[in-house]
Amino acid sequence: MKRTIKKIITGEKTSDGKGVQLTRLIGSSALDMLDPFLLMDAFGSDKPQDYIGGFPPHPHRGFETVTYLFAGKMRHKDSVGNSGIIETGGVQWMRAGKGIIHSEMPEQEEGVLFGVQLWVNLPTTHKMSEPHYQEVNKTGIPKEIRGGDCFLKVIAGKTKNGTQGAMSHDLIDPLYWDIHFSQHATFSDKIPAGHNAFIYVIEGEITVYGESVTKNQLAVLSDGHHIEIKSASSARFLLIAGKPLNEPVSRSGPFVMNTDEEIQQAFADYESGKLAKPFQA
Ligand code: FE
Repeated sequence: MKRTIKKIITGEKTSDGKGVQLTRLIGSSALDMLDPFLLMDAFGSDKPQDYIGGFPPHPHRGFETVTYLFAGKMRHKDSVGNSGIIETGGVQWMRAGKGIIHSEMPEQEEGVLFGVQLWVNLPTTHKMSEPHYQEVNKTGIPKEIRGGDCFLKVIAGKTKNGTQGAMSHDLIDPLYWDIHFSQHATFSDKIPAGHNAFIYVIEGEITVYGESVTKNQLAVLSDGHHIEIKSASSARFLLIAGKPLNEPVSRSGPFVMNTDEEIQQAFADYESGKLAKPFQA
């Protein structure tokens, strides 16, 4: 069965952290969540005032954040002792688990900062697990060439040709592909039936069985096991899919749990220093 476009989301302009301007595509009034995806933010600007404030220290519990930078540099630091820089083309997949406090700050004072952050829910069994990171730079992401006019960078999941993504994930069997068309091209692949899936267009315009999706739009796909995407000219888009958890979700700010009581506990643990070691960026 073909996966067609079910809904197109243009996102809501908002700001988060210390005044970072962004577009919220998932986690908004138009699309509350797409289980297991809780939030998808796109940020992109060449104006320092839109990003320079960054995301000073803040906590997370109960889910994962996946940050992919298309341009620029972000420095991260956390309460567990990790720190590093995500550079252009790099991805960080962070499991906050039982709790982490971290900062995510631009490592630049000018130029373009452009990327996306996706929040991936954790099942009850893993919400209180130890924090864990997977990080990969531009050169560490497997690239699959599909003829002269199409290639994809495989961040997670396995393509029909057998390219295995850079990130391993035992819980939601994710696909996270960054697909590039240099001109008129067609891309097709398999997506496991039952997974929730979406496309986010970074550049240009694509069509899914004749329906168009343009730059900065997110298209939620119907269920099925096959996708075919075409473009009349150069384009770049993300194709992301994951197995739904089908669990109750209670969320507030930086915490995502199953029940309201667990959310209250997260706030209490944060305030008492039990969620994570207090941390100064
Ligand atoms: Fe964060």
